Amino acid sequence: SELRESRIKKTKTVCTYCGVGCSFDIWTKDRKVLKVEPSMDAPANQISTCVKGKFGWDFVNSNERILEPLIRRGDAFYPVSWEEALDYTAKRLAEIRDRDGADAVAFISSSKTTNEENYLMQKLARAVFHTNNIDNCSRYCQSPATEALRRTYGYGGDTGSIKDLEMADLVIIVGANPAEAHPVLSTRIRRAQKKRGQKLIVADLRKNIMAERADLFLHPRQGTDLVWLSGVTKYIIDQGWHNQEFLQNKVQNFDEYVASLEKYTLAYTSEVTGLSQETLIQTAKMIADAKSVCVCWAMGVTQHLGGSDTSTAICNLLTVTGNVGRPGTGAYPLRGHNNVQGAGDFGCAPNFYPGYQSVSDPAVRAKFEQAWGVSLPTTPGLNNHQMVDAIHEGKLKAMYLVGEDMAIVDSNANYVQSAFEKLEFFVVQDMFFSKTAQFADVIFPASPSLEKEGTFTNTERRIQRLYQALPPLGASKPDWQIITEVANRLGANWKYTSPKEIFEEACGLTELMKGATYERLEGYKSLQWPVWEDGTDSPHLYLDGFPLEGGKARLWPVDWTPPLTLPEAYDLQLNNGRLLEHFHEGNMTQRVAGIQKKVPHTFIEISPELAKQRGIEDGALVRVSSPYGSVRMRATVTDRVQGNEVYIPLLSTKDEEAVNLLTSSDHDTYTFTPAYKEMRVKIEVLEFT
Ligand code: SF4
Repeated sequence: SELRESRIKKTKTVCTYCGVGCSFDIWTKDRKVLKVEPSMDAPANQISTCVKGKFGWDFVNSNERILEPLIRRGDAFYPVSWEEALDYTAKRLAEIRDRDGADAVAFISSSKTTNEENYLMQKLARAVFHTNNIDNCSRYCQSPATEALRRTYGYGGDTGSIKDLEMADLVIIVGANPAEAHPVLSTRIRRAQKKRGQKLIVADLRKNIMAERADLFLHPRQGTDLVWLSGVTKYIIDQGWHNQEFLQNKVQNFDEYVASLEKYTLAYTSEVTGLSQETLIQTAKMIADAKSVCVCWAMGVTQHLGGSDTSTAICNLLTVTGNVGRPGTGAYPLRGHNNVQGAGDFGCAPNFYPGYQSVSDPAVRAKFEQAWGVSLPTTPGLNNHQMVDAIHEGKLKAMYLVGEDMAIVDSNANYVQSAFEKLEFFVVQDMFFSKTAQFADVIFPASPSLEKEGTFTNTERRIQRLYQALPPLGASKPDWQIITEVANRLGANWKYTSPKEIFEEACGLTELMKGATYERLEGYKSLQWPVWEDGTDSPHLYLDGFPLEGGKARLWPVDWTPPLTLPEAYDLQLNNGRLLEHFHEGNMTQRVAGIQKKVPHTFIEISPELAKQRGIEDGALVRVSSPYGSVRMRATVTDRVQGNEVYIPLLSTKDEEAVNLLTSSDHDTYTFTPAYKEMRVKIEVLEFT
């Protein structure tokens, strides 16, 4: 809305950073962001924001923004007109497709772009290029959680709302650091602790901020979460503390599941995890005594060889104790990026159309063929992990990547970068000249969220609208416009004039969002999927049963995958994660002066014991090496980590310090999510303080 001084504008937007999905009014004057004003109407955050949402907007005016399309000639990039960049891109992609087949081209969409843009990206891959080679970064983070939720409950989304976390008697946080990675959500747990005496259990390798505030902190050995979760579940059943009525009426497969738990005795569980039997019993008792339990988890669970199975063990525990399908209970994988949920919901996956409809189902395919007026590929495509392998094998020749710095954030970054070197044609769409963009042949300048309209879907399946606060800077454009122009140069006849039209088309093709419309999402209104045709939505899933056989949840037996073994010389256990001030690798927050000043570099946390044993002083420059690469950074001595466990924040857009130069290509069996959290390293001091 225009205010008294006509150049001052107040625009409702949704935060561009984490998956909590805070919404607020942003005040601007010309291109200057004056202030961020949260509102009681904001469903996920009300009057709260964190440092990133409140102060993290300078990047939109950064002088590092790419303002014109760029084409590589030799080793340099040259600015060109949109016409030239688009024509050249369409020509090269079509040449490669016609020569090597549609599956020689692949598409990576973005968890930072809107639902509408994600929908168009998968439509471009499928309807225009005739390939299912489309994926997004949920492959790196929460795909194992989605797999677990679909196995056990049916839908691949959080079972309730952030509000339920406040209502629960007991919250358990496993392998997550919400005080830094999902700050506003952690504030709401903190409030419930203070106001209602809510109990908190934190299981983590690192004594993070929430662990300090917990009633019980569990520090199991790295990679053994499935074991303690299964051991505790078995103990609960053995004691008769399970919810027999719920199990009888609403759950299938109990007997087979109980048989699968046989080996997880207290003695075995204690031996494998390093947790004492007393601690395991105390955990079981706290769960059994609580009237309502919620479990939150994140990358500390999913980024392991057994990430899907450990996520499933969490769901099994909740099912056995009847803590799903009623308010104040449930499973909450905490989505990392603001729209990682939406990227999956709107079909940016090699096996699913929008709404998790299988590409292998002929009836579903026929529906999309009719709607889009084209024939569609019949087999699932490559996920982003397989794409990197396929480039190395010479099978994949061209890639169109939107808004991901894969060369830094994918695991085993050296391997990914050497794959990008081999691409015959590479299109990167971004705001900044990222590490990944350095490998591109064409760079399209994209606009950030403040410069466009659309919708984002947060961690609790909540769809929210964002409105345009600023015009696109320079010649940059919203992603949906760029994708449309590429498609139309390749023979499509897309006539979209607004994100609203795209949203309507997408929602019309999926039961999950059938009743979602821009009108129903006006201003601060929001909808949590499934959204039925009459516009009612679903803050709580499964109140009336589960969309599985017989309407019942399914207990799913799982087994433990021991962590990777590595040569003994690599004697330190490496963990990694986010910082409060920066978002992930820092592509945006490193361009916010206030934040960058406060936390300018990444670092390695080492324990006081290790520091003493190796003579490493606080602030010393160290080299950290794994079998896959090495990095240099300063050491921070802290008791957040213990013994031989070390921790490196994800923050870094530079080659010499990015933690993913150390991580491997090993991955979860079912989803291919890299085992980022299973690496061992060695350390040497380069320079004393
Ligand atoms: Fe943004 Fe997440 Fe902070 Fe909310 S908690 S303001 S969504 S970064």
